Amino acid sequence: MSVSTAIELISREAADGAVPASTCSPDLVRDPWTIDALPMPQYGPGASMADPAPPATPRQGELPEEYRTASAEDLDRRIRAAKETLGESVVILGHFYQRDEVVQYADFVGDSYQLARAATERPEAEAIVFCGVHFMAETADMLSAAGQSVILPNLAAGCSMADMADIDSVTECWDQLTELFGTEPDADGRVPVIPVTYMNSSAALKGFCGDHGGIVCTSSNAAAVLEWAFERGRRVLFFPDQHLGRNTAKAMGVPLEQMPLWNPRKPWGGTDEQVLQDSRVILWHGFCSVHKRFTVGQIEKARAEFPGVRVIVHPECPMPVVDAADEAGSTDYIRKAIDAAAPGTTFAIGTEINMVNRLAAQYPQHTIFCLDPVICPCSTMYRIHPGYLAWVLEGLVGGRVLNPITVPESVAAPARVALNRMLAVRP
Ligand code: SF4
Repeated sequence: MSVSTAIELISREAADGAVPASTCSPDLVRDPWTIDALPMPQYGPGASMADPAPPATPRQGELPEEYRTASAEDLDRRIRAAKETLGESVVILGHFYQRDEVVQYADFVGDSYQLARAATERPEAEAIVFCGVHFMAETADMLSAAGQSVILPNLAAGCSMADMADIDSVTECWDQLTELFGTEPDADGRVPVIPVTYMNSSAALKGFCGDHGGIVCTSSNAAAVLEWAFERGRRVLFFPDQHLGRNTAKAMGVPLEQMPLWNPRKPWGGTDEQVLQDSRVILWHGFCSVHKRFTVGQIEKARAEFPGVRVIVHPECPMPVVDAADEAGSTDYIRKAIDAAAPGTTFAIGTEINMVNRLAAQYPQHTIFCLDPVICPCSTMYRIHPGYLAWVLEGLVGGRVLNPITVPESVAAPARVALNRMLAVRP
């Protein structure tokens, strides 16, 4: 059963007073265009609903009524017909965390890194429809061939974690660190600080890294990227996800006391000069609200109920959760671990619910469940709905590119430098 169907059923039963609600918000049953119409930008219901969306968050204009009122069957028929008409001229990419109702139309399904690579594999396609979130569509635009359009079906599908680090705050932090450390390399040729941005960040921050001797990383290659950075710098400024930075550096032997947190809302990031002088990794105060939901208590409960359970969590989870799990790894790591396991293995997984439910359906020989018993999808992935997909595909059939994502070349050029440094690093 898909997450959307489960949410519908639970909400209906809860409304009848039959069972308590098992979803993080009853608003999940609302259609995303009702969120688009709200006066202030919001991430919408789901894991990041409590995170404040910055005022400059892209807004989605009103979806035409014919798509808002179409039945699921009608949208399915229209999407399939548009895909058929467009043929090889369009490629649809779907992220692992996307709802099943959308992922079923994807030509490629994967994590942000795999989809960034997939965007380069169909240079003959005139349009890439990216069923993911904003930073992924930006990366696809920067890596795709000239003349290809990248389309995000709902412009409000951002990422609350990516929004926690913006170019102005990072530049301000960088200026303060430069004032403190200077720019001169040491006797080994290592500069004072190397900036490292997680793939889950704006193109502007990837460009910042390209311009300042830095690099991009993913959850698959973060350790290799940090090694690259430590060869070139005495310390790293890691943004926006503190948890990926901390979990990765800790596994590499960096002591916690050498990983201060930089809070951009506090003077000197809320830390002090001596701590910064002694630091190896300065962690930005960002997090993913999906992975922040996992707790050590959930792991203890899973172990008590399913002796021998194999617990795998994503490295965006807080450090105590990663420490309590058996393994931590990217979405691709999780998928491969399940694929390689002996039949009959029980897995408790700490990542987004749509992906976990899909894995459970794909691998019926195992028992697979999400550590978090409450259905709470990524709010922003959830903003993509078949109605928007039908709208952008029929737009292409009519010769119109709706919701294009275009990164200016002045940003894309340095961002490609940082991305290419990452691609040259062996994971
Ligand atoms: S799961 Fe977390 S990091 Fe991924 S898009 Fe959603 S909010 Fe962003």
